[in-house]
Amino acid sequence: MLDMVIIGSGPAGLSAAIYAMRAGLQTLVIEKQPMSGGQVLNTVDVDNYPGLPGIGGFELGMNFRKHAETMGARFVTEEVTAIESPEGKEKVVVTNKESYPCRTIVLAMGATHRMLGVPGEEALRGMGVSYCATCDGAFFRGKTVAVIGGGDVALEDALFLARGCEKVYLIHRRDALRGARLLQQKVFDTPNIELVWDTVAEAVEGEGTVQMLQIRNNKTGETKGLPLQGVFVAVGITPNTEIVRGLVDCDEAGYIRADETCKTSIPGIFAAGDLRTKPLRQIVTAAADGANAITAAENYIYTF
Ligand code: NAP
Repeated sequence: MLDMVIIGSGPAGLSAAIYAMRAGLQTLVIEKQPMSGGQVLNTVDVDNYPGLPGIGGFELGMNFRKHAETMGARFVTEEVTAIESPEGKEKVVVTNKESYPCRTIVLAMGATHRMLGVPGEEALRGMGVSYCATCDGAFFRGKTVAVIGGGDVALEDALFLARGCEKVYLIHRRDALRGARLLQQKVFDTPNIELVWDTVAEAVEGEGTVQMLQIRNNKTGETKGLPLQGVFVAVGITPNTEIVRGLVDCDEAGYIRADETCKTSIPGIFAAGDLRTKPLRQIVTAAADGANAITAAENYIYTF
């Protein structure tokens, strides 16, 4: 029986793997895709991870991964479908290929982007509608695009796209941005980013590719179409907790209720990173969760 199964290989899962190896725990990391790495891989520049100013998100994600591998962590690429005997001393993580009996489980599946839910979004996905500026931005060199959202991701995406695009509309539903002040200032200082306040997207239009974004001003009710070629949706994240809903205690938005110890409502199951209830979802807090989860897991293992 394994001491621990870690589900997910973003900063939380990889940090947990590093700490688990240091603690001498027999550990397996299950990731859905090879090098899944979590949202960090899609982050342009990370300017708030201590000691590594301006490191690329992809590079940082790969560094986490290499570090965990160097420590001896074992990885498999499988999809977890269920957790059996969650309350037992011997829990079982079931995947599409195998079953893994284990003493403890760290849930670190992270979160994925939300969709806008407007007409045309799904149909034009991959044909001008994107959820990842770093992945798709290069296709829009010299073109006009819109970024929708007002959080850190929207601001980072707008700044990244402004480097290659002719014009970037940043469309936000309120009159104040949510993202970090430093990023806000950079956005305000970038001449080819135009802020469109108090405005929501109503439809994405185009034949085969995006040609127009229909928008509506919340305050005036005025509607208009913006001719453009790309729409980058950055309206937040949803926790990837489907496999544990109804098993561990979650809040109404689906985040697993757990404090800084990362203990969930089930002894021996821990939640680390963006999928747990917490005031600040950052790479550094995800990495911290990985460490805290292992400390709590060690206590659990040596107590029971
Ligand atoms: P976020 O902070 O939740 O921001 C989502 C934005 O989208 C908000 O401005 C929100 O508006 C807007 N929004 C939500 N639903 C909308 C809708 N239906 N239509 C229009 N706008 C909508 O999400 P995020 O930017 O994806 O960031 C996710 C988390 O990752 C955050 O905690 C963030 O701090 C973190 N992050 C960290 C780093 C880093 O550590 N370097 C980098 C990037 C992101 P309101 O403001 O009106 O709610």
